[in-house]
Amino acid sequence: MASMNLTLPNGVSYEQPVDLFINGSYRAATGEPFDITDPSTAKLVLTVNGASIADVDDAVNAARAAFDGEWSEITPVERGDYLRKLAELIDRDRALIAAIDAYDSGKPYSVALDADLDESYNVFKYYAGWADKIYGDTIDTSPSKLAYTLQEPLGVCGQIIPWNFPFMMLAWKVAPALACGNVVIVKPAEQTPLSALYFGKIVQEAGLPDGVVNVLPGLGSVTGKALAGHLGVDKIAFTGSTNTGRSIMKSASANLKNITLECGGKSPLIIFDDANLEQAVKWAHGGIMDNSGQVCTSTSRIYVQDGVYDDFAKAFVDYTKKVTVVGDPFKQDVQHGPQVSKAQFDRVLHYIEAGRKAGAKILSGGSKIDGEGYFIQPTVFTEADENASIVREEIFGPVVVISKFATENEAVAKANNTSYGLAAAVFTEKISRGHRVARKLQAGMVWINSSGDSHFGIPFGGYKSSGIGRELGRYALDAYTQTKAIHVNLGTEL
Ligand code: NAD
Repeated sequence: MASMNLTLPNGVSYEQPVDLFINGSYRAATGEPFDITDPSTAKLVLTVNGASIADVDDAVNAARAAFDGEWSEITPVERGDYLRKLAELIDRDRALIAAIDAYDSGKPYSVALDADLDESYNVFKYYAGWADKIYGDTIDTSPSKLAYTLQEPLGVCGQIIPWNFPFMMLAWKVAPALACGNVVIVKPAEQTPLSALYFGKIVQEAGLPDGVVNVLPGLGSVTGKALAGHLGVDKIAFTGSTNTGRSIMKSASANLKNITLECGGKSPLIIFDDANLEQAVKWAHGGIMDNSGQVCTSTSRIYVQDGVYDDFAKAFVDYTKKVTVVGDPFKQDVQHGPQVSKAQFDRVLHYIEAGRKAGAKILSGGSKIDGEGYFIQPTVFTEADENASIVREEIFGPVVVISKFATENEAVAKANNTSYGLAAAVFTEKISRGHRVARKLQAGMVWINSSGDSHFGIPFGGYKSSGIGRELGRYALDAYTQTKAIHVNLGTEL
């Protein structure tokens, strides 16, 4: 069965592909089937057929043939046209794709529509613009030599996608890879493969040459692993946990693949006495509670200077209680859906319990929400030991720890006391302090007076165990090209 008719909770019916998308068409998978569950009800939605190792081989062969064939013959301007066409079709289908992601992942439909799909559309448009502006340099060394560089595509790119922003993460990876002239094999997360499978239809309609985009749903331990270790794959771009990133790095070492890893975080948010407290409360709230806390850059550790600590903690809890409407992702006004899966639900509750046992104080929330689905109350801890697991480990749920500091040095030391280094935020009205602290924070992204506001033109990625390489902006072009140096002898004779 290549597809099935699915009716979404908002009443929209459509044909959902459930098989592999290889070489421009859907075909049956030969790997293990796996279940897709609606996290709002914990009920089975459908079963998707996973790609086996042999299916991965087939996709790599199709991608390689496309890379060596038609795709390398077209001009950069034509590549840009294809990306623009993909953007137009995403724009046309944005309501449907947003609803698919809301159903599959539990994120509010309105958020999927206004944030994820808008960003996905813009990312394709943005890289359409880059496609014909990727070139090397001429390098002046001596009158007898002409040296220049070419920025060439890497080839077959495996792209392993997480479940927290299913379609948007696909866009972040596919668009720059194609703009640079690569071909891709997308491996969506097993929790949320539906919008990626639907993307195959968009690729068909846009008329991309067969094999340029392939989509392989499947388990990470089978399909993801086979892709990461495949000798015919030139690059792996991954977003997910640091542990899986480590394992991908090992698999990718077989042929020294180029890798981009966008892994976990435990990002700090620092609030100084002089901050605009009202703004700090709002940004800090979004920084941890958006997407039910399932964001790699979530600012899950809040450090507040002692002069405003009590005021901030009270205002933060009041605001959280007032604005966080938890519930059915398809209901208007809901900003906080369920956790994506039973595994994530259990994991977050386990951390809440561990925090309680370690003696931290719960100011708000602290338990699951009774009823069907994987809903958890937004949870605010204080008075946690800096070594407690809720302070040190990535929870990936709506759980924040608020702690106190006295001096700027103490705040920076606490903020940097983590193996992660994805993002950090600082709130102050003193311009010099904001920039000074931003430079001292060991993180790939620092926000001054905001949190979590990424943009497709600005590089995204982490320091330390939060990853390798950068996505987005012109930096993604480095991640998807390699440099060839050409030496032209203009007269030196031997
Ligand atoms: P994960 O890292 O295991 O999964 C992410 C992707 O990697 C999925 O597509 C998965 O199928 C694939 N994968 C898993 N094992 C693989 C392997 N050995 N080789 C190749 N691909 C593999 O994440 P998870 O288990 O779904 O979630 C666990 C934790 O990961 C979360 O609690 C959270 O802390 C973190 N996470 C982070 C992000 C992020 O945006 N940084 C996203 C999702 C999950």
